[in-house]
Amino acid sequence: MSIVTEVRTACYIGIGANLGDARDQVERAIARIGELPSSSLVAQSSLFRTAPIDAGGDDYINAVVKLETSLTASALLDHLQAIEQDFGRERPYVNAPRTMDLDLLLYGQSIMKSDKLTVPHPRMTQRAFVLIPLLQIDPFIQIPGKGAAHSFVPAVAGQAIQKI
Ligand code: ADP
Ligand code: MG
Repeated sequence: MSIVTEVRTACYIGIGANLGDARDQVERAIARIGELPSSSLVAQSSLFRTAPIDAGGDDYINAVVKLETSLTASALLDHLQAIEQDFGRERPYVNAPRTMDLDLLLYGQSIMKSDKLTVPHPRMTQRAFVLIPLLQIDPFIQIPGKGAAHSFVPAVAGQAIQKI
């Protein structure tokens, strides 16, 4: 008899949308993430309404989910980008309004930097719409190489964010 154990990595994914029925899209994206192979959705934040940063357009709906996965970070990003495509994501210019944005925020304790993927997500400590939902799931979470997520909150206190 053998017992097969599979190593799973705890990851956090940031979700945002501000085109179309953003709230419905975020809820459907969470459902899709819950169906990813070799993965389990283990926590999800509330939905939050936030004002766009460095961009025009409507308010965003944002959330963060926690996934335990045996996918590599690169494979996980491929799946997330495929989901973005299914929602009709277009990238006409930087920070353009989007039907769906899925960012890999944290992949276990990993620190990685390539053209395709930087983890921890480089801007996550500057964004209330990431920090607040993330801290709702795990108030004590550490960002590898950067420190406690909560320590970055005072610096984003001026960013409008409202729990739905
Ligand atoms: P942003 O979310 O920064 O506004 P995009 O969603 O258009 O921009 O992503 C641009 C590129 O960022 C993607 O092609 C992807 O390869 C790259 N990228 C690097 N690191 C990450 C990450 N941690 N999560 C998601 N995308 C990332
Ligand atoms: Mg993105």
